[in-house]
Amino acid sequence: MNSLTLGEYKAQRNFDETPETEGKIKKSGKRLTYVVQKHQARKLHWDLRLEHEGVLKSWAVPKEPPTEEGVKRLAVAVEDHPVDYAGFEGTIPEDQYGAGTVEIWDRGSYEPEKWKEDEIIVNIQGEKLTGRYVLIKTRFGGKENSWLLFKKKSK
Ligand code: MN
Repeated sequence: MNSLTLGEYKAQRNFDETPETEGKIKKSGKRLTYVVQKHQARKLHWDLRLEHEGVLKSWAVPKEPPTEEGVKRLAVAVEDHPVDYAGFEGTIPEDQYGAGTVEIWDRGSYEPEKWKEDEIIVNIQGEKLTGRYVLIKTRFGGKENSWLLFKKKSK
Protein backbone atom coordinates (compact mmCIF):
# COMPACT_ATOMS: atom_id res chain seq x y z
CA MET A 1 0.00 0.00 0.00
CA ASN A 2 1.41 3.37 -0.86
CA SER A 3 0.85 6.69 0.81
CA LEU A 4 0.27 10.12 -0.74
CA THR A 5 -2.96 8.81 -2.14
CA LEU A 6 -5.50 11.47 -1.20
CA GLY A 7 -6.09 12.27 -4.87
CA GLU A 8 -9.14 10.02 -5.08
CA TYR A 9 -10.54 11.40 -1.81
CA LYS A 10 -10.21 14.97 -3.09
CA ALA A 11 -11.50 14.22 -6.57
CA GLN A 12 -14.74 12.83 -5.14
CA ARG A 13 -15.59 15.82 -3.01
CA ASN A 14 -16.53 19.48 -3.39
CA PHE A 15 -15.09 21.14 -0.29
CA ASP A 16 -17.26 24.23 -0.79
CA GLU A 17 -20.27 21.97 -0.23
CA THR A 18 -19.31 19.19 2.18
CA PRO A 19 -18.35 19.79 5.83
CA GLU A 20 -15.65 17.09 5.54
CA THR A 21 -11.96 17.98 5.93
CA GLU A 22 -9.93 18.86 2.87
CA GLY A 23 -7.06 17.09 4.51
CA LYS A 24 -3.31 16.94 4.33
CA ILE A 25 -0.81 14.11 4.59
CA LYS A 26 0.16 13.83 8.26
CA LYS A 27 3.73 13.41 9.46
CA SER A 28 3.84 10.10 11.28
CA GLY A 29 3.71 10.19 15.05
CA LYS A 30 4.05 7.46 17.62
CA ARG A 31 0.39 6.98 18.42
CA LEU A 32 -1.39 5.71 15.37
CA THR A 33 -5.00 6.69 14.98
CA TYR A 34 -7.80 4.14 14.93
CA VAL A 35 -11.41 5.09 14.32
CA VAL A 36 -14.68 3.53 13.19
CA GLN A 37 -17.30 5.91 11.81
CA LYS A 38 -20.88 4.73 11.50
CA HIS A 39 -22.00 6.08 8.16
CA GLN A 40 -25.68 6.20 7.35
CA ALA A 41 -25.33 6.69 3.62
CA ARG A 42 -27.57 5.13 0.99
CA LYS A 43 -26.62 1.92 2.76
CA LEU A 44 -25.63 1.86 6.42
CA HIS A 45 -22.02 0.78 6.96
CA TRP A 46 -19.14 1.17 9.39
CA ASP A 47 -15.94 2.80 8.09
CA LEU A 48 -12.86 1.30 9.72
CA ARG A 49 -9.83 3.58 9.43
CA LEU A 50 -6.21 2.95 10.45
CA GLU A 51 -3.46 5.53 10.20
CA HIS A 52 -0.67 4.30 7.96
CA GLU A 53 2.09 6.33 6.30
CA GLY A 54 0.39 9.66 6.89
CA VAL A 55 -3.13 8.78 5.76
CA LEU A 56 -6.07 6.73 7.02
CA LYS A 57 -6.30 3.40 5.24
CA SER A 58 -10.05 2.78 5.04
CA TRP A 59 -12.48 -0.12 4.73
CA ALA A 60 -16.27 -0.01 4.55
CA VAL A 61 -17.76 -2.78 6.70
CA PRO A 62 -21.42 -3.51 5.83
CA LYS A 63 -22.18 -4.98 9.27
CA GLU A 64 -21.15 -3.86 12.74
CA PRO A 65 -17.47 -4.70 13.36
CA PRO A 66 -17.03 -7.74 15.65
CA THR A 67 -16.19 -7.24 19.32
CA GLU A 68 -15.80 -11.01 19.89
CA GLU A 69 -13.73 -13.75 18.31
CA GLY A 70 -15.40 -16.05 15.81
CA VAL A 71 -17.26 -13.44 13.78
CA LYS A 72 -15.92 -12.63 10.31
CA ARG A 73 -16.95 -9.50 8.48
CA LEU A 74 -16.52 -8.45 4.89
CA ALA A 75 -14.49 -5.23 4.70
CA VAL A 76 -14.29 -3.41 1.38
CA ALA A 77 -11.16 -1.32 0.90
CA VAL A 78 -12.04 2.25 -0.08
CA GLU A 79 -10.03 5.39 -0.78
CA ASP A 80 -7.49 6.71 1.73
CA HIS A 81 -8.72 9.52 3.93
CA PRO A 82 -6.77 12.35 5.63
CA VAL A 83 -5.79 11.59 9.24
CA ASP A 84 -7.83 14.50 10.58
CA TYR A 85 -10.93 12.90 9.08
CA ALA A 86 -10.90 10.69 12.20
CA GLY A 87 -12.54 13.52 14.14
CA PHE A 88 -15.31 14.08 11.63
CA GLU A 89 -18.95 13.76 12.57
CA GLY A 90 -21.74 15.46 10.73
CA THR A 91 -24.02 15.46 7.74
CA ILE A 92 -22.74 15.25 4.19
CA PRO A 93 -25.20 17.11 1.96
CA GLU A 94 -27.63 15.26 -0.29
CA ASP A 95 -25.86 15.94 -3.59
CA GLN A 96 -22.35 15.14 -2.30
CA TYR A 97 -20.26 11.96 -2.35
CA GLY A 98 -21.20 9.72 0.60
CA ALA A 99 -24.30 11.83 1.39
CA GLY A 100 -25.73 11.01 4.81
CA THR A 101 -24.73 11.18 8.43
CA VAL A 102 -21.41 10.21 9.97
CA GLU A 103 -20.91 9.53 13.67
CA ILE A 104 -17.90 8.24 15.52
CA TRP A 105 -18.76 4.69 16.64
CA ASP A 106 -15.39 3.87 18.20
CA ARG A 107 -12.02 5.52 18.44
CA GLY A 108 -8.60 5.13 20.00
CA SER A 109 -5.17 4.05 18.84
CA TYR A 110 -3.51 0.94 17.52
CA GLU A 111 -0.15 -0.74 17.11
CA PRO A 112 0.68 -2.62 13.92
CA GLU A 113 1.91 -6.18 14.38
CA LYS A 114 2.07 -7.01 10.67
CA TRP A 115 1.37 -4.79 7.67
CA LYS A 116 1.61 -6.58 4.34
CA GLU A 117 -0.06 -6.11 0.98
CA ASP A 118 -2.63 -8.83 1.70
CA GLU A 119 -2.57 -9.29 5.47
CA ILE A 120 -2.68 -6.80 8.31
CA ILE A 121 -2.61 -7.59 12.02
CA VAL A 122 -3.16 -4.76 14.49
CA ASN A 123 -3.55 -4.36 18.21
CA ILE A 124 -6.47 -2.03 18.71
CA GLN A 125 -7.05 0.03 21.83
CA GLY A 126 -10.52 1.44 21.35
CA GLU A 127 -13.56 1.53 23.57
CA LYS A 128 -15.64 -1.02 21.71
CA LEU A 129 -12.88 -2.85 19.87
CA THR A 130 -9.86 -3.98 21.87
CA GLY A 131 -7.24 -6.60 21.11
CA ARG A 132 -5.78 -8.22 18.03
CA TYR A 133 -7.62 -7.79 14.75
CA VAL A 134 -6.81 -9.28 11.39
CA LEU A 135 -7.58 -8.01 7.91
CA ILE A 136 -6.98 -10.52 5.12
CA LYS A 137 -7.41 -9.84 1.44
CA THR A 138 -9.83 -12.38 -0.01
CA ARG A 139 -10.74 -11.28 -3.53
CA PHE A 140 -14.16 -12.59 -2.53
CA GLY A 141 -16.46 -12.65 -5.54
CA GLY A 142 -13.49 -11.83 -7.76
CA LYS A 143 -13.25 -8.35 -6.28
CA GLU A 144 -9.80 -6.88 -5.73
CA ASN A 145 -10.90 -4.73 -2.81
CA SER A 146 -12.53 -7.43 -0.65
CA TRP A 147 -11.01 -8.17 2.74
CA LEU A 148 -12.11 -10.15 5.77
CA LEU A 149 -12.04 -8.56 9.20
CA PHE A 150 -12.06 -10.59 12.39
CA LYS A 151 -10.81 -10.62 15.96
CA LYS A 152 -7.99 -12.99 16.78
CA LYS A 153 -6.98 -14.61 20.05
CA SER A 154 -4.56 -12.53 22.11
CA LYS A 155 -1.04 -13.88 22.23
MN1 MN B 1 -18.50 5.55 4.28
